[in-house]
Amino acid sequence: MTTSVSDISREKSAELFEKAKQYFPGGVNSPVRAFKSVYGTPLFIERGDKAHLWDADGNEFIDYCCSWGPLILGHNNPEIREAVQNQLGKGLSFGAPTALENELAELILNNNKKIEKIRFVSSGTEAVMSAIRLARGYTKRDKIVKFEGCYHGHSDSLLVKAGSGLVTFGETSSAGVPKAFADETIVIALNDKEALKKVFADFKDQIAAVIIEGVPANNGLLIQDKEYIKFLREITKTNGALLIFDEVITGFRLGFEGASKYYDIQPDILTYGKIIGGGMPVGAYGASKELMSCISPDGAVYQAGTLAGNPVAMAAGIAALSILAQPGFYEKLEQTTQAFVEELRSFIAERGYQIKIFTIGSIFWFAFTEQEKIQRADQIDPASMEFYKKMHRELLNRGVYFGPSGYEVGFISAAHTEEDLTQTLAKIKESLDIVFQ
Ligand SMILES: *Cc1c(COP(=O)(O)O)cnc(C)c1O
Repeated sequence: MTTSVSDISREKSAELFEKAKQYFPGGVNSPVRAFKSVYGTPLFIERGDKAHLWDADGNEFIDYCCSWGPLILGHNNPEIREAVQNQLGKGLSFGAPTALENELAELILNNNKKIEKIRFVSSGTEAVMSAIRLARGYTKRDKIVKFEGCYHGHSDSLLVKAGSGLVTFGETSSAGVPKAFADETIVIALNDKEALKKVFADFKDQIAAVIIEGVPANNGLLIQDKEYIKFLREITKTNGALLIFDEVITGFRLGFEGASKYYDIQPDILTYGKIIGGGMPVGAYGASKELMSCISPDGAVYQAGTLAGNPVAMAAGIAALSILAQPGFYEKLEQTTQAFVEELRSFIAERGYQIKIFTIGSIFWFAFTEQEKIQRADQIDPASMEFYKKMHRELLNRGVYFGPSGYEVGFISAAHTEEDLTQTLAKIKESLDIVFQ
């Protein structure tokens, strides 16, 4: 029987965290980093190279968080690094157009036929917020429908959770969001056609857009049936509402055309982030020429950004996406991920452990459940997170870094080597043996 290994040293990280708590709320600049859902204090990272991370105490990890998704090419990718270094000597920001913006746009538009025009912003939150405004400006309607279990960044309209009942106004999920905003956002369950029918019956001619994550991956990995997404596409169209596909995670992760291609649908507005900037802060939204002509300065929907299309970030994005555009890139990454997941699945089946691994593309999620499918947020048992918490500690102690919450997915990057993956498999197996002993 495997036994626990001793805890890694976190002396320096703990010291840094104590200091950080004097400077930042909760000691962090984004809440999930605070390790509230797992054991110990956050690890302060010093550097990354390929699939590996080193923390302030000198511990080394194989990384499956990948900065929450952007690092599909791993850390310190030489092409991205060179592109950034090359741009650094020319200036950091001009507040004027550069050829780099055209270059990144061409690379995207040539390989992604779901959009005809694009606008660069600086984060996923901004991309989604702007997409919502565009939808409202274009349709001249105010209401938005979102799904329980989808995350779209932290703009006011979207920090809303389901009330009780099949179709109700949302309740704010953050203090500081006016009730009047929440009243414009209706929250329904995923994978529920009846709820969709009811929402369009109850709010006829009032819904500007329905927004959904390409594949919901911020609250577990809730892979939707193709048939359901096609239904969603149809019912929005029939009712004159736009369909916003938030592909901040899935865009350039499942391929250049993201989840829209997987589901074989044409959304009206698409939002991007994470991978698009090669590790730098970039977001984007895109749509048809007609829709995008509503955006300022062409149209009446205002949207701007001092650092939007930042040249250093554009250079990083161009370098990253040029690699991703090479034939076979996504196929290979997906095969690697499938093999990794299959190996774990057979181990789990052999042992009879109560855990499932859901996967799409190079995304995977550990669900401590007996259910064969999880497609709605309310199918996740919060009590099951206790298992993840234990596994997370065992993995960290064995040099494997996963996101510090059981609701988060893992990512495999092109920088993960056979050896990294083989080592990780052994360590996950050991950890599961301890979790279930
Ligand atoms: C990460 C994420 C966002 C927010 O992006 P930020 O860059 O963190 O603002 C929005 N939507 C989805 C689907 C995301 O995964």
